[in-house]
Amino acid sequence: MTERNLLLLPGDGIGPEAMAEVRKIIAYMNAEKAAGFVIEEGLVGGSAYDAHGAAISEEDMAKALAADAVLFGAVGGPKWDDVPYEVRPEAGLLRLRKDLELFANLRPAICYPALANASSLKPELVEGLDILIVRELTGGVYFGEPKTITDLGNGQKRAIDTQVYDTYEIERISAVAFELARTRGNRVCSMEKRNVMKSGVLWNQVVTATHKEKFADVKLEHMLADAGGMQLVRAPKQFDVIVTDNLFGDMLSDVAAMLTGSLGMLPSASLGAPDAKTGKRKALYEPVHGSAPDIAGQGIANPIAMIASFAMCLRYSFNMVTEADTLEKAIANVLDKGIRTGDIMAEGATKVGTVEMGDAILAEFQALSA
Ligand code: NAD
Repeated sequence: MTERNLLLLPGDGIGPEAMAEVRKIIAYMNAEKAAGFVIEEGLVGGSAYDAHGAAISEEDMAKALAADAVLFGAVGGPKWDDVPYEVRPEAGLLRLRKDLELFANLRPAICYPALANASSLKPELVEGLDILIVRELTGGVYFGEPKTITDLGNGQKRAIDTQVYDTYEIERISAVAFELARTRGNRVCSMEKRNVMKSGVLWNQVVTATHKEKFADVKLEHMLADAGGMQLVRAPKQFDVIVTDNLFGDMLSDVAAMLTGSLGMLPSASLGAPDAKTGKRKALYEPVHGSAPDIAGQGIANPIAMIASFAMCLRYSFNMVTEADTLEKAIANVLDKGIRTGDIMAEGATKVGTVEMGDAILAEFQALSA
């Protein structure tokens, strides 16, 4: 039987509560579908600091490097506000991203029909929305040097950030976008600012060349990133896969997120380069939301973002496409039945807690998989 090695890092706050609901789905898949998941567990964030004095221990980092995929909950909380900067909870996540070399961040924006009314846009603009934003995660202006604030000595200061991209960085992120487009609507829209930025000119050239060389079957379109932002709120359903740099991706993916309703609904994936021997990519899957200290421990957190992150893991790390589709369908059906956690509650719906939402999704998943 195929062994599928998963490392679970539940983290802090609502992380462990949401992860518990994924654990139930894994247990069912192992028991009834012989899925062969081998689970390791570890600590990250504040919980790791309390146990080891670091945001992630070396032992857990080794487990992450050895795993086929990492499922991450959330980190942080007021308890750790005053810990030294190098060991703050977020340092655990940054270390994982860096050491696993996760350069591609995937943020789907899916609007479940039952939640179309929760969007800030008109329901007909977002109902059935299914787009994927592929953001470059390890380069660009957040990391480029020099990055300084200099005192000019005349009462003025000068701040410098450097936007820098090499050909290989653009090639590998666009390859990820084209490959993913082939598994969806087969369309990629690349966004940059070639009209005012040299990095935009190179971005455009490299995406175009990569497309021509290896992915000519995929439909490619280019858009200036500011126009892209406008189109995202004007007619979001025109897009399939959007590929863009670190800075524009940060903003555009948050814009896309708000098209879909609540933070408790949004999954994400971060992928690395394929291993030269096995072809497998290092990968980390996590909800977009944080540790929500204001509701932690109350049993009311929405576990859907965490469960949908596991669905992405099934799809992208284990090529279990049918199972991923079924799990996503189970989430949609449960929402259709009017079952809601507090953050997505609507008039006439049935309000449930974290465990009940997890149970309802598992029951639906079982029924659909039977
Ligand atoms: P947050 O995402 O934790 O919460 C924002 C708001 O959304 C809160 O009112 C919260 O109750 C609500 N919310 C979030 N997820 C929810 C869910 N699944 N179900 C229901 N409601 C949900 O963001 P924040 O309050 O800015 O940050 C809280 C802590 O989380 C901070 O320590 C922050 O540094 C950390 N954080 C961690 C990550 C991460 O682990 N990747 C991401 C963002 C924030």
